[in-house]
Amino acid sequence: MNVIKSVKEMQAFSEASRSQGQKIAFVPTMGYLHHGHARLMQEGRKLGDVLIVSIFVNPTQFGAGEDFEKYPRDWDRDAQLCASAGVDVIFAPTAEEIYPHGYQTSITVSQVTQNLCGVSRPTHFQGVAMVVAKLFNCTKPHVALFGEKDFQQLVVIQRMVKDLNMDIQIIGVPTVREQDGLAMSSRNTYLSADERMSALSLSRGLSRARELFQQGERSALVLIATVRQIIEKEKCAAVEYVQVCDIETLQDIDVISQPAVMALAVKIGKARLIDNIVLKE
Ligand code: AMP
Repeated sequence: MNVIKSVKEMQAFSEASRSQGQKIAFVPTMGYLHHGHARLMQEGRKLGDVLIVSIFVNPTQFGAGEDFEKYPRDWDRDAQLCASAGVDVIFAPTAEEIYPHGYQTSITVSQVTQNLCGVSRPTHFQGVAMVVAKLFNCTKPHVALFGEKDFQQLVVIQRMVKDLNMDIQIIGVPTVREQDGLAMSSRNTYLSADERMSALSLSRGLSRARELFQQGERSALVLIATVRQIIEKEKCAAVEYVQVCDIETLQDIDVISQPAVMALAVKIGKARLIDNIVLKE
């Protein structure tokens, strides 16, 4: 497994792979890797001859007062996980490599970024779109994999790739959960034992909503109220949003007559957790 830190070297590696006719699969991450990331790598391994994983905690997707400085990092563990997942290259650039002096370009995906997490994190998806576009230009993938856990992010990237005619196939990978239902996240490390118990209310709420949906409930209001009730029983949980949206436009819907995503964000202690399920016939 190679570790590449410079943009030029990464581009040269990818160019050489492409000229040998190899298909490049790419998994962008912010490190502190877990089984959710590993699943993306497994899928990538199947789809590409060369598997590149980036580890870069991107400063521009964190807002003021968010957890950029405190975001967990563990290089040795990450490198080990990548090696055992069969990764060929870890691309681990510095912020100076990615954001050169005088940098002044941005990418705005204007509509699907407005709702859900975009309300409380108004600059987040601009940071995400930009860094992903830059990482694509460094690693030159044929296919890139993203988790459905960050559903809005996946929609934003799909939109950007389409709008900018990027010749890259985007694959969404279902959310990987702990045995008790908690969606895996690097930020779960912020949770105390008690908070972790409370955090189970997120997946419990979503499972209950899915059950009701399967029994024929189509009112978003009813499903949202059910989920809120389950989560709000937990003293340390502060619900930021629970919403039901169209899976492409991410606009709120009242009656679920088309495929929908039920998405939520909840603050538990210091951790802001997100989760979602897709509701469709
Ligand atoms: P992050 O390191 O949190 O930026 O995540 C990197 C990629 O892994 C993103 O595409 C995430 O959606 C994906 N990911 C994170 N957690 C999970 C999970 N529990 N299941 C599936 N994919 C995940």
